[in-house]
Amino acid sequence: MNLQNVLVVGAGTMGNGIAHVFAQSGFAVTLVDVNENVLSKAVATISKNLDRQIKKGIVAAEDKEAILQRIQTSTDLTAAAANAHFAIEAVVESFDVKKQIFQTLDHHLAPEVIIATNTSSISITELAATTQRPDKVIGMHFFNPVPVMKLCEIVRGLATSDATYNTTFQLAQQVGKTPVTVQDYPGFVSNRILMPMINEAIYCVMEGVASVEDIDTVMKLGMNHPMGPLTLADFIGLDVCLSIMEVLHKGLGDDKYRPCPLLRKMVAAGHLGRKTGKGFYTYE
Ligand code: NAD
Repeated sequence: MNLQNVLVVGAGTMGNGIAHVFAQSGFAVTLVDVNENVLSKAVATISKNLDRQIKKGIVAAEDKEAILQRIQTSTDLTAAAANAHFAIEAVVESFDVKKQIFQTLDHHLAPEVIIATNTSSISITELAATTQRPDKVIGMHFFNPVPVMKLCEIVRGLATSDATYNTTFQLAQQVGKTPVTVQDYPGFVSNRILMPMINEAIYCVMEGVASVEDIDTVMKLGMNHPMGPLTLADFIGLDVCLSIMEVLHKGLGDDKYRPCPLLRKMVAAGHLGRKTGKGFYTYE
């Protein structure tokens, strides 16, 4: 099957990035969200990010209009699903919201169409089980910012077929990403390793092992990480870090994944990082 029309559901941070890379790679994209306002913001973001790529010489200036032309927007998921050859879900990280989207897609997509999800922490196997096509459900975990980050975790649920996996893997390559194959366990590989490291850095703060700045300096200068774990936590959002630690703790059942009490306290106080102006650091 020729996969030409790609449906992206959710036009937030990740959805607009996913639409961007598919359109840039020549696919016709329909980007769906709940209202026009979010959609026009998403298209403005894509336009701004294309300008940045043009400045860096990654995209030719004369290609910009054609890339934008390949992106249509819609608030009507049912209608958009009718023409899609491949669907990627990137709505908020809530099982109930995703389940509703999956069921609508399952009803309205052609039977052969694959449904991929960009979830960071929800079980692909459980999402697949809400549909009549569990063999055609797969994780396609992109990283933020999508146009910049090369990695894509291709996450196989228990029922994901080899055909679904092969198609999705190739599609990730076609949009310029480096796919890795991951089985469906909590946190996949990326968050299974990253979040406990961030959590441990927060334990170091709580126990007074070193200052916030010094902990970040250790990981930057000693381990060559481009940014320290506490800076990264503020960037990701401390609420997101906490909820992923809870998924690891519950899903793997091992206390080594228990969220640090200081992380819980900061989330309870509303100190969520960059998005609230205060986390481990203070932002303007
Ligand atoms: P976001 O909040 O920026 O965007 C989510 C979008 O979904 C919003 O625009 C919202 O209006 C839309 N939405 C909600 N309900 C909808 C519905 N019923 N129909 C259509 N659209 C709906 O979130 P995000 O950061 O883009 O995250 C999206 C997904 O990607 C989540 O599953 C998240 O775990 C995952 N993810 C996020 C990151 C990241 O760094 N932000 C990285 C990898 C994966």
